[in-house]
Amino acid sequence: MLIQISQLTIGATDLIAAFLFMYGLKRMSSPVTAPSGIYVAGIGMLVAVLASFLYILSVDAAAKPQLPINIGLAVIALIIGGGLAWWVGKKVAMTAMPQMVAIYNGMGGGAAGAIAAVELFGDKTHGLTQLVVTLLGALIGAVSFSGSLIAWAKLDGVLKNPLRFRGQQIFNGLVMLLTLAVGGYILFITKSGATPLLPMPQLTELFFACALVCGILMTLPIGGADMPVVISIYNAFTGLAVGLEGFVLQNPALMIAGMVVGAAGLLLTLLMAKAMNRSISNVLFTNFGTPKKHKQGAIKGSLKPVDAADAGIFMRYASSVIIVPGYGLAAAQGQQKLYEFVKLIKSAGVSVKFAIHPVAGRMPGQMDVLLAEAGVPYDMIFQLEDINDEFANTDVALVIGANDVVNPAARTDKSSPIYGMPILNADKAKKVYVVKRGEGKGYAGIVNALFYAENCDMVYGDAQAVLAKMIEAVRGLGSAKAA
Ligand code: NAP
Repeated sequence: MLIQISQLTIGATDLIAAFLFMYGLKRMSSPVTAPSGIYVAGIGMLVAVLASFLYILSVDAAAKPQLPINIGLAVIALIIGGGLAWWVGKKVAMTAMPQMVAIYNGMGGGAAGAIAAVELFGDKTHGLTQLVVTLLGALIGAVSFSGSLIAWAKLDGVLKNPLRFRGQQIFNGLVMLLTLAVGGYILFITKSGATPLLPMPQLTELFFACALVCGILMTLPIGGADMPVVISIYNAFTGLAVGLEGFVLQNPALMIAGMVVGAAGLLLTLLMAKAMNRSISNVLFTNFGTPKKHKQGAIKGSLKPVDAADAGIFMRYASSVIIVPGYGLAAAQGQQKLYEFVKLIKSAGVSVKFAIHPVAGRMPGQMDVLLAEAGVPYDMIFQLEDINDEFANTDVALVIGANDVVNPAARTDKSSPIYGMPILNADKAKKVYVVKRGEGKGYAGIVNALFYAENCDMVYGDAQAVLAKMIEAVRGLGSAKAA
């Protein structure tokens, strides 16, 4: 049976998918247009799946008797995978989103690795370029798969401490060399026709096993603060692997999707590395982010708890407030209450701005999305480099559920794992209020001297509950005046 689907139809469908990916990505560059960008890119993905089916159907089914079975299996996989993703996506908590992204990223890498496995285990005859590209895609996809799973475990708190041992970097280097050597050997055997030391299927299994171990070994030693860079690197790896396998399958939709994800991941990696003031090699090979022996004795002052109502009223009478949101705000789902409080004090004449650190939260852009969700206008939101000089002339810095991104140790303490990372200058404001539940540390696991500073008061409690008390106190002022 020959199904008549012209190459033009398939090409046009691919083109539409590519356009939707890029347009969606463009819209994702601003928090205002990001939600619609996600829908557009999602539709692009649907069109890309359609293009792939059209491509398969255009193949002469008579030459491939197993085709109807394969299509049936693909449809079943789509229904199960799509259904699961829909269900998980609906029920996942906002704070567990980074873990979910890590898992999905790993699935992308795994899928690219699986395509490569089908190609390598199958008895197809590959040209040299195709074989090299397949092996590269297999390596990068497998590394991204196992590395992302370790990143998930770290983000989820399943793996709490970085795993280190003596001579680890040399060991990791040797495993990587072994993987490359096995890949090179497969290439040599396939092209020369020489008899391999091991049967080909076993050699291919060894190659995949080594690549998977590489991903695990690369990620295990990476500690606390540098996960944003690692997540972005695996994002770029997955895109690259998918793009390479798209080339092997000669599937334009896969190639374009892979290239778009790979390029976006690469840009994100560079941005995240810049935000942490680290080079990528520094993150991957120097165990950056390790909590070394931190000189806690150097911290002077004491923690000074104050009442939420008093802090709220103080801000109501301030002339300027800069808010620094962090992971705890997302954990408390306090964004709506925060904006309610902001609207209240703004209507009383207080100038209010939001300062966003690029690695605040647990996912690049998480704070922007959180504030956009609460309806905070984009012109109130400022990135680190645009607002940092303003803290010194600001009455109050309200640090809400943030910790590492305002830790002054990053400027001065060479023993700190976040030394060198640019931070938000909250400590330079005339008064600082820090909202957090207790003495919990941030993601990097270090003490924050800001909390002990002369100009800093602690407002203890869940961010949402604290904000509710602040709102009540400020509203109470209005009704007291009216009475
Ligand atoms: P953070 O340093 O992790 O600190 C969050 C603070 O929020 C904690 O000290 C915690 O203290 C408080 N908190 C938790 N739940 C709360 C609640 N319900 N109400 C009020 N406070 C609550 O957060 P951050 O300042 O946003 O810094 C982000 C960190 O994560 C950086 O180290 C960054 O490198 C890392 N990271 C970022 C990404 C990314 O892509 N953005 C990815 C992975 C890792 P209590 O326990 O005392 O309440």
